[in-house]
Amino acid sequence: MNIHEFQAKQLFAQFGIPVPIGKEIRTPRAAEKWAAKLNASVYVVKAQIHAGGRGKAGGVKLTKNCAEVPALAKELLGRNLVTHQTGPKGRKVRRLLVEEGAGIARELYLSLLVDRDSGWPVFIASTEGGMEIEEVAAKAPEKVLKEPVDPAVGYQGYNGRNLAYGLGLPALEPSILGSFIALLGNLYRLFMEKNASLVEINPLVITHDKKLIALDGKVSLDDNALFKHPDFQAMRDLHEEDPLEIEATNNNLNYVKLDGNIGCMVNGAGLAMATMDVIKLAGSEPANFLDVGGGATKETVAAGFRILLKDRNVKGIFINIFGGIVRCERIAHGVIEAAKEVDIRIPVVVRLQGTNADEGRKLLQESGLKIEVATDLWEAAQKIVALTGKRRKKADAAS
Ligand code: GDP
Ligand code: MN
Repeated sequence: MNIHEFQAKQLFAQFGIPVPIGKEIRTPRAAEKWAAKLNASVYVVKAQIHAGGRGKAGGVKLTKNCAEVPALAKELLGRNLVTHQTGPKGRKVRRLLVEEGAGIARELYLSLLVDRDSGWPVFIASTEGGMEIEEVAAKAPEKVLKEPVDPAVGYQGYNGRNLAYGLGLPALEPSILGSFIALLGNLYRLFMEKNASLVEINPLVITHDKKLIALDGKVSLDDNALFKHPDFQAMRDLHEEDPLEIEATNNNLNYVKLDGNIGCMVNGAGLAMATMDVIKLAGSEPANFLDVGGGATKETVAAGFRILLKDRNVKGIFINIFGGIVRCERIAHGVIEAAKEVDIRIPVVVRLQGTNADEGRKLLQESGLKIEVATDLWEAAQKIVALTGKRRKKADAAS
């Protein structure tokens, strides 16, 4: 789960990481009131969307004039912001963060995430703050520092000193060394206690009066740990999530939208991955990953089927079920039930294998629905691709 910058900064503040004084704002009138109260020398009005690159896209406005704040708020609220992270459709701005501006002397990059290779949390830091870290890594990899932390012992002072010296902070700004090392410790505590998968501060700035401030904040929380943090529910912003993914979550389905045109519904993550591979092998692209789970019921199958049918990109559906725990005739009932509720105008291929597969296939064949039934995976994949037409991504076709 991702949260907004203003929410990330609230978490930072709770963990002793310095942030500018600011407030979430939803109307120009509220912006006017808050700006008057803030009474700062510089005001920053920032669009709150779950995407970076707002600065370059015009989503971050600065003014020295308190009276201008409501107009800037008005300009941003309701606007569709397109950044290089939003995709061409962009995101509608519904909330703002209005905060006190900082006088920037230097911008640093700092993040903490799980390193998939070692399985340890790793700090990433760079003197090239304010830039995309991917860009720094591509152009000047020597400027990207990494400091893994052994989770068995936790963050240690030497981790902080390694990074501080690596960044050249003692020469650059010796007076902030202590607060930098403390900030890293606080960031580590936040990361562990809140079960984050990523915390990023870009930029972490050194101000003219030699203070460290987190000027931006991105926090991703581990979905699998959300049950431990009921308070996070209030931070969820459904406007920032794909409606089909929300519906899937509400039905306990593991669903990830992709950009192909064959909707797949499979029981079991491994089989779902294999199914996507086979669709590609047959010459097309999956429109999604959808695992209805090893113990899929008639209801979950019906919910999954409805979700696939709602996706406009889906030009054909491939249901691939192995009846191990689940029985195939129940799956068939779920498909038939969901199919009755909606008018299916696209080809559907169902491959059933395992417990009561024959019975399931028979139910589907006798349902009167336009559903192709198959037993063999490769045959089924070829069938759905033939029915929807081959469609490869350009990049794939060229390689
Ligand atoms: P992003 O573009 O979505 O990553 O948004 P950021 O929060 O990182 O803001 C983009 C840029 O705006 C920063 O890199 C800064 O250069 C600038 N900026 C943001 N807040 C301030 C501020 O308080 N003072 C000044 N001078 N610049 C700021
Ligand atoms: Mn940023």
